[in-house]
Amino acid sequence: MKQYDYLIVGSGLFGSVFAHEATKHGKKCLVIDKRSHLGGNIYCEDIEGITVHKYGAHIFHTNDKRVWTYVNDLVEFNRYTNSPVANYYGELYNLPFNMNTFNKMWGVVTPEEAKAKIEEQKKQITGEPKNLEEQAISLIGYDIYKKLIKGYTEKQWGRECKDLPAFIIKRLPVRFTYDNNYFNDRYQGIPIGGYNKLIEKLLEGIETRLDTDFLKDREALSALADKVVYTGPIDQYYDYRFGKLEYRSLRFENELLDCANYQGVAVMNYTDEKTKFTRIIEHKHFEFGTQAKTYITREYPSEWQEGMEPYYPVNDEKNQSLYSKYSDLSKSEDNIIFGGRLAEYKYYDMDKVIASALAVTDKLF
Ligand code: FAD
Ligand code: UDP
Repeated sequence: MKQYDYLIVGSGLFGSVFAHEATKHGKKCLVIDKRSHLGGNIYCEDIEGITVHKYGAHIFHTNDKRVWTYVNDLVEFNRYTNSPVANYYGELYNLPFNMNTFNKMWGVVTPEEAKAKIEEQKKQITGEPKNLEEQAISLIGYDIYKKLIKGYTEKQWGRECKDLPAFIIKRLPVRFTYDNNYFNDRYQGIPIGGYNKLIEKLLEGIETRLDTDFLKDREALSALADKVVYTGPIDQYYDYRFGKLEYRSLRFENELLDCANYQGVAVMNYTDEKTKFTRIIEHKHFEFGTQAKTYITREYPSEWQEGMEPYYPVNDEKNQSLYSKYSDLSKSEDNIIFGGRLAEYKYYDMDKVIASALAVTDKLF
């Protein structure tokens, strides 16, 4: 008899939801994480009474009623609605691309005028868009592509828009109404007091060990449990035997400012090519904070190298085909489940990670 039914590697949303469900079904779990805190990338810190999203802004949004009910049964959400502003050399535009954006860009007032402008600007794209540049121009025309997409995207991904997959830009809504809600999803908000509460609830009563790297001690740790759930990078699990998958990383530059309101919005995107950071997050606005001070974070994208946090999978053809080799290998494993953004090498949002963990546990228990 082993000490645990499941050893769960990674205390992010995938690992925590899995552990929660397994425990509910009478299984004994141990959750480990190599970081010195729980929660993976949704971890928050309290700084001067402000909840700070330590690994970048996290806004919960979903169309999945089961997932929304699931998280609301655990914690209370506020009514935050993401409406970022794009800053192009001091010119400000509302996001996502909607009538406010079109009005500021072209002076058009009616949806019909906006559509005509886009039609005229997308003429150069014929046939199915083959990459992000073509996809963007055919969705919102050349001017918006040039001012609000090209610079931001090339900084974010470190690649030219011509070399990026079209699907990345399809994440963003294009709307012919005066509506600045960044998401189309039916449900949206942020847990009151931050995401740590959600993780604490999920892991209530479950044993955890921090500062424990599975890959540094995999034999001894695996021996503790019947099965392993692994949520780290899949290529690292296999010692990069087919080569390294590419990721984008981020450097966060934080500043506590002696002013109550720095930019008037939680997220301001810098869409020009000269400014090196992609966005500034002013954390207090996620919870309508009224503190005397404010805390801001500038996000500088960079190519991932060993030792850095791998934040975004680069889902282009080259990396997808490398990933499928690892994925095929993982299918032959009996006692290990791979799940989450890094182990599945997927540009998953939080709700999708929860849904995918629930799909796994639905089958098992
Ligand atoms: P993670 O949170 O990455 O957890 C994996 C855990 O495994 C980590 O804690 C890691 O330390 C641990 N681990 C890895 N290797 C080992 C090892 N060898 N041993 C022990 N532990 C290990 N989603 C949204 O829905 N809305 C947003 O606004 C949003 N914004 C985002 C902004 C940024 C900058 C980023 C990077 C992501 C954003 N996401 C957002 C996506 C969201 O972060 C993920 O969907 C979710 O956190 C993924 O959960 P996970 O459990 O798969 O992975
Ligand atoms: N994007 C852009 N300009 C913006 C915001 C986003 O060009 O002002 C593009 C960029 O390529 C980005 C993609 O749209 O990677 C998806 O944006 P999203 O906000 O969903 O990115 P994430 O939250 O994953 O960082």
